[in-house]
Amino acid sequence: MNIQKNFCPKCGEPSEEGLCGKCRVKETEWLICEPRVQCIHCPTCGSLKHGKTWTDEERNLDELAYELAANAVHLHEDVYDTKNEIETYSPNPNRTVCTVSISARLYGIPIEDKCKVLIIWSKEQCNRCSRYAGGYYEGNIQVRATGRKPDPYENKRAAEIAYNTEDELQEAGERLSFLSQVDETKDGLDIIIGSHHIGELISRKIIKEFGGKITTHPKVVGEKDGKPLHRITYLVRLPRYRKGDVIEIKNRYYEVRWVDKGFINIFDLKEGIMKAFHDDSQGRLIGNVCDTETALVAYITSDMAGILDPVTYRNIECAAYDWLNLSEGAEIRMLRDNESEQFILIG
Ligand SMILES: [Zn+2]
Ligand SMILES: [Zn+2]
Repeated sequence: MNIQKNFCPKCGEPSEEGLCGKCRVKETEWLICEPRVQCIHCPTCGSLKHGKTWTDEERNLDELAYELAANAVHLHEDVYDTKNEIETYSPNPNRTVCTVSISARLYGIPIEDKCKVLIIWSKEQCNRCSRYAGGYYEGNIQVRATGRKPDPYENKRAAEIAYNTEDELQEAGERLSFLSQVDETKDGLDIIIGSHHIGELISRKIIKEFGGKITTHPKVVGEKDGKPLHRITYLVRLPRYRKGDVIEIKNRYYEVRWVDKGFINIFDLKEGIMKAFHDDSQGRLIGNVCDTETALVAYITSDMAGILDPVTYRNIECAAYDWLNLSEGAEIRMLRDNESEQFILIG
């Protein structure tokens, strides 16, 4: 018969091995509590400062108080089954006292304790709001067009691209990439920007959509932390012709399909094939395919077609080019060339 019992060397109670649970708990510093926590937030936009960096977090302050208090409590790694209860009390708007009650288990023994965490709320204007309020900017984007003014659609799209880019960058945490002003002027669109990065992105997206060229004009405006501070003007020059413009070059009509890398890619409205011209080619602008009228093909004779003018109801004779595949009684889109009094059939 082997009767063997272990006893705690400290209190003499039965123990499986060495110190009993109660004595181990007594010897363990299982709760450490930070008595004061500071939280800095921007009164204008609500963003929070962690160390030296600001982040956008939409938080209500009650929720934040619970989180800060919970994070101020540090438990020994052997503690398990933890339950926290937090009561808050704010004696004034700059202070919240949090009482954290902890119940848990350690070495098989139930434990509980309380601690107080004082949260100090401080306000500081964040880097973005102070720049914004101070009228700080790092550049501007000027959207212009060659030989014409950007049309209302181009201005509207360029502004949309700018706002969307701002949203994307803000969401990605690039806080200083903001737009401080977007204005339609008599020459086009002017956008004042908080960072060079947003300027580059917006300019590139605009010419990706419309074609055109970007030129940058930097100017040293001062110094910041020992480095020269540049302000950059991004001049976005949209192409002379827009997608869908119908132009006349040497008595032949073309429809602009896209503009890219210094070329306009055009559809020859006589031969029905694509051609490319340098984007500095100048033609006479007739209109845009968005503005076509629909007319009826009244009759076809060998290589001509009678098109019924939808306004005057007179037949206008037009060349019936093969690619148009005209058929009597069918409808066709057309533009009027007021100079030559011809109809240009778009197909
Ligand atoms: Zn013991
Ligand atoms: Zn702010």
